[in-house]
Amino acid sequence: MGATLEIRNLHARVEGKEEPILRGVNLTINQGEVHALMGPNGSGKSTLANVLMGNPAYEVTDGEIYFDGENLLELEPDERSRMGVFLAFQYPVAIPGITLANFLRHAINARLKAIDPDSKGISIPDFRRLMKEKMDKLHMDHSFAGRYLNDGFSGGEKKRAEILQMAVLEPKLAVLDETDSGLDIDALRIVSEGVNTLRGPELGVLVITHYQRILNYIKPQYVHVMYGGQIVESGGADLALRLEEQGYDWVREKYSAVAE
Ligand code: ADP
Ligand code: MG
Repeated sequence: MGATLEIRNLHARVEGKEEPILRGVNLTINQGEVHALMGPNGSGKSTLANVLMGNPAYEVTDGEIYFDGENLLELEPDERSRMGVFLAFQYPVAIPGITLANFLRHAINARLKAIDPDSKGISIPDFRRLMKEKMDKLHMDHSFAGRYLNDGFSGGEKKRAEILQMAVLEPKLAVLDETDSGLDIDALRIVSEGVNTLRGPELGVLVITHYQRILNYIKPQYVHVMYGGQIVESGGADLALRLEEQGYDWVREKYSAVAE
């Protein structure tokens, strides 16, 4: 069976605004599947990612989210993370003074302590081995882990740091919300290669993107189009190609009633 994500009739709004942004989202992602979520700017894609992670700025007004049989909406963000939900942020924050390696060791130890309050955390040699294994797998230079987290990182390096976090934390579901405007071809390649290296029967992936081009590198089995806070079209890779060729105008025309 594996850890399935089930989103049913999800309605959500942002704090301080009456108007809902998400207006009945339905989506099921099984462990091992790669899904792409596309849609014009402002359609609600990032809002969905934020709601999945439990960002308190967003309020769920209707519907439900189940992950691995648990009601995700009742869990705090750190509990969701421990269950295996990973969100790569669209705008990662810089933490000067904390190296990437330190950050990751804290994250691992927090998990171990959540399972066993008496846990002493991962030993330094074990942690070194783990980092080496993951960085080799991703063809990353070992010096990278000694850098301060996102401090002065280029767009590509931020993406690399996210992918390394994902490799170390071994999520069951990864949600990647991309800055479509900011991602140069280098960063795109890094994210794609990382995801392709990590994808497999244990990992479900939701790639959120405005443009089709990342899907040339990460081949999704399923493509969904969000418009007006709903998933209005679902299909295979051919749907992404249609959007590449024809843009979103036909979506806007066909579903103009949805956005009202
Ligand atoms: P997308 O990621 O598809 O471009 P978003 O989820 O970012 O769309 O935004 C959907 C709509 O919700 C937009 O109209 C946006 O302005 C609004 N919105 C999202 N987050 C906020 C927020 N924190 N404050 C105010 N408006 C927001
Ligand atoms: Mg967005």
